[in-house]
Amino acid sequence: MKKIVIASNNAGKLREIQRILEPLAFEAVPQGSFGVPECPEPHVTFVENCIAKARHASAHTGLPALADDSGICVDALNGAPGVYSARYAGEPKSDQRNNEKLIEALKDNPNRKAHYYCVMVYVRYADDPQPIIAEGAWHGEIIDQPRGAGGFGYDPYFMVPQFGKTGAELDQDQKNAVSHRGQALRALAERLKAAS
Ligand code: IMP
Repeated sequence: MKKIVIASNNAGKLREIQRILEPLAFEAVPQGSFGVPECPEPHVTFVENCIAKARHASAHTGLPALADDSGICVDALNGAPGVYSARYAGEPKSDQRNNEKLIEALKDNPNRKAHYYCVMVYVRYADDPQPIIAEGAWHGEIIDQPRGAGGFGYDPYFMVPQFGKTGAELDQDQKNAVSHRGQALRALAERLKAAS
C-alpha cells in the first residue's frame, strides 16, 4: 500500500476518498494524524487554494498528498459564493445563515442557475511541477423554499432538474453517482491509475 496524506480532516470526505483509493493500493491518512497545521486559503479560485493545500500537506509530511476544494457558484451572482461558500454569511460558519443570504441575494431574480464545483489535486512531492488535477461540476437551480433533510450546506435549496429533487432529497449513493465530488473522485482515480 502506498501511503498518502489527505489534506482534510472531514470524516465523511475521508471515507469517500478511502473507498475510491483503496482498490488502487493507496492508504489515505488524514493530515490531522501528522499534526499538519491549517493551511491558509488566500486565493479566489478553487484550484489555486487546492494546490496550496496539497503542497502544504506534502511539505509537512514528506508524503504524496491529496487535497480537495469545493463550493457552489451561482450564475446570477457572477459565480459567488464560490470559494467563500462555507463562510458566505461570515463567522461563525452557518449553513442556515449562508442559505438565507443566498435566497436574499437572488430575490426577484429569475435566473436561478447554479452549480456545485469540486476540484481534487494530487502532488507526489511538495514542489511537484505536475500536480494531477481532477474536477467535477453538478448543475441545478436555487429554489426559495428548502426541501429534504439529507445532505448538508446548500443542498435543501439546490434543485436537480434531472431528478425533480433537491440535493437534500437524494440518498448518499444517488448523490455520489452524480455530484461534483463523485465526478471529481472518479476522474482522479482514472488519472492516478493511468499515472501509476
Ligand atoms: P469544503 O470543500 O469542505 O471547504 O466546502 C465548501 C462549502 O461548499 C461547504 O461548506 C458547503 O457550504 C459548500 N458545499 C460543497 N459541497 C457541497 C455539497 O455537496 N452540498 C452542499 N454544500 C456543499
